[in-house]
This record gives sequence, structure tokens and C-alpha cells, in this order.
Amino acid sequence: MRLTIDTHMHTIASGHAYNTIDEMTRSAADKGFTHIAITEHTPKMPGSCAEMYFHNLQSLRHEKMGVYRLFGAELNIMDFKGSVDLPERVYKELDITIASFHTPCIKSGTREQNTAALISVIKNPWINIVGHPDDGRYPVDMEAVVKAAKENNTLLELNNASLKPAGPRPGTWENDRKMLELCKRYKAHITISSDAHIEEDIGNFQYALQLIEEMDFPESLIAGTDYDKLVGFLNIGKSGNNE
Ligand SMILES: [Zn+2]
Ligand SMILES: [Zn+2]
Repeated sequence: MRLTIDTHMHTIASGHAYNTIDEMTRSAADKGFTHIAITEHTPKMPGSCAEMYFHNLQSLRHEKMGVYRLFGAELNIMDFKGSVDLPERVYKELDITIASFHTPCIKSGTREQNTAALISVIKNPWINIVGHPDDGRYPVDMEAVVKAAKENNTLLELNNASLKPAGPRPGTWENDRKMLELCKRYKAHITISSDAHIEEDIGNFQYALQLIEEMDFPESLIAGTDYDKLVGFLNIGKSGNNE
């Protein structure tokens, strides 16, 4: 299996990442990537982009240096109803949207509350991916999350950065094993991402692929093996959007 799509990364615009969009594109091109997604943090993340930044992404062209760039956002989940920190009219126009729990934006609730937040996000037709649902600081009922993701055509993310030994999220290996097992059982799709904050990290799927192999996870359920398959999950692939 060769993955040439990376669905999650940040640039200097996010405030705590260190390369420009063009530097990320060049690095992706050098590594043979065909598609990348630039998914900056949304306004409630300290130091990140204002709403206007996301409006104006339409001024960028998709294709550059032989790489197709998807322009999107990593939305912050703000409450247990699954509210996020951009207006729907803004994020529905983006090519790709991820929604995630981040500690500067929401403190964990009970397992039931965290699960309700993720299910609400999953049911939102303009949110495409649940970012790092493996974060042990936000315990969830993984079976309920996976079933909802399957029913609503939403991707669950296998985030390589979550699995790094020095990463801040506890319990990720165990939580991802559980998630992958349930995705196999319910035939729910995942996406593998680097969540790169520097260009060297683009396409770094080292730990994610280790788990895929360990779990004997089927390639057919990995959306990023084929852009035609992936696009069916994204806003850019929804009819009438981004024409
Ligand atoms: Zn994140
Ligand atoms: Zn991220």
C-alpha cells in the first residue's frame, strides 16, 4: 500500500507551525505526494487564523508544483452539542473540514458528554473528519462513535502525531486499536494523516502504518489510498460545492 494523500497539516498561519503553504507544497511534491490538505486551526485556538482567513482561501489555486492542495480547517469543538468556532456558511465552502477536541478550547466532560459532542459533529453534513478521536484526555464510547461515523459517511482519523512516543495525548495506541477493530467490524472508513506542523513531517505515517499492519486493517477502508474514494467524504465532493 502506498499513500500519496495527507489529509491534515498546518502552516505558519496556525501560529504554532513553522512553514508556509508553498514550502509544504514543495516538500509534498519532493516526497511524491499527489494531494495534501492544509487544515489550519480555527479562531478559538490561541494565535491562529481569524474567520477572514478561511473566507479568502478561495483565492488560492488548488494545483501547484504537481500537488493538488485541498484548503480546509481543523475546527475546534466548543461544547458537548458539537458547536464549532466558525459559522457554517464559512466552513461549508471549504474543501475539507476536520473537527477535534483541543485543550485550549474545551475541557473534557463525562464519557457520555464527549461522545455526544463527537456524534453531533459526525452528523453535521459539512464536517468530514473527526480529528484524533484517540485522545485519552477525552474518553468516548468508541463503538457509538464508529457506528455514527459509518451511518453518516464521516471519516475517523488515524493521526500519526497522536502515536508519537513524546505526544501529549495519553492512551492513543490502545484507543486506536479499539477504533480500528470497530471500524473493521462496522466497515467504517478512516483517513491516515500526519498532522504535520513542519514540512519534514508531511506524509510521516510511521506509527499509523505500524498499527494498520498490526491490526491487519483492510486497505479498502482507508479513504486516502485513492483520491476518487476520499473525495466522496469531503465537502469538495458534495454536489454544488466548490464548482
Ligand atoms: Zn488537532
Ligand atoms: Zn492539527
